[in-house]
Amino acid sequence: MSDREQFLISEEPYYREVHKEIELYEAAYAVRMPLMLKGPTGCGKTRFIEYMAWKLGRPLITVACNEDMTASDLIGRFLLDANGTRWQDGPLTTAARIGAICYLDEVVEARQDTTVVIHPLTDHRRTLLLDKKGELISAHPDFQLVISYNPGYQNLMKDLKQSTKQRFGALDFDYPSADIESEIIAHETGLEQEAASKLVQIAHRGRNLKGHGLDEGISTRLLVYAGQLVAKGIDPKAACQMTLVRPLTDDPDMRDTLDAAVSTFF
Ligand code: ADP
Repeated sequence: MSDREQFLISEEPYYREVHKEIELYEAAYAVRMPLMLKGPTGCGKTRFIEYMAWKLGRPLITVACNEDMTASDLIGRFLLDANGTRWQDGPLTTAARIGAICYLDEVVEARQDTTVVIHPLTDHRRTLLLDKKGELISAHPDFQLVISYNPGYQNLMKDLKQSTKQRFGALDFDYPSADIESEIIAHETGLEQEAASKLVQIAHRGRNLKGHGLDEGISTRLLVYAGQLVAKGIDPKAACQMTLVRPLTDDPDMRDTLDAAVSTFF
């Protein structure tokens, strides 16, 4: 299988549009604008980029960024093998060569000296320097860079530099309105709309506690987990405790508060 084929998404991912983001993305892709998807964890950013890659018929290469990541992890490195040394492209280089959409998830986690390697790919140059190899590659015309960014996590010590931020257009994501979120949960889990809607109402209670004891609200992803357990016949209360309460906090008072919200509905 060629590199390009293995990164193509063959089946249409389910994505429920929330506010014209598909049209905006298509226009941005048409001019190959680098994009930043902003929003809390588990609100649909990854699903959206999978859907767009499928819709545009482009390969998608996703990289989960972390603080130990070096520029070589993105660009590539020389490896030792029986015949000596061999160059291996990193995911960013592969994406630039084959014309993929490269999605750098949580890029802010990466060190700043790692982040700057993407700069020449995000302006008119559209190039990537493989410094260790002594090669300058020009990105394939189809290549696009997309990063995700969770505004909630940032602090002064750890944020993207303005010189990086201002290379991207941005789309805001958030948990969808109650109607749409219930529709998503019902679709993803096979639950009836009514049960899905109860889960969403519990999430709303939990989200109100953000900043008042909880660092993050209950994500759409966790609601999908809850729905999947309920659809399997698990008692809804136990399912909610396992997926909507326990993962979020270890604080006994917070757990009591969230458990009480669950008991209101189930
Ligand atoms: P993020 O990348 O923002 O952390 P994901 O894209 O992984 O979050 O979303 C988590 C889950 O929530 C998805 O796997 C999907 O089941 C569901 N989801 C969230 N928003 C949508 C949406 N608009 N359409 C379809 N599914 C969604």
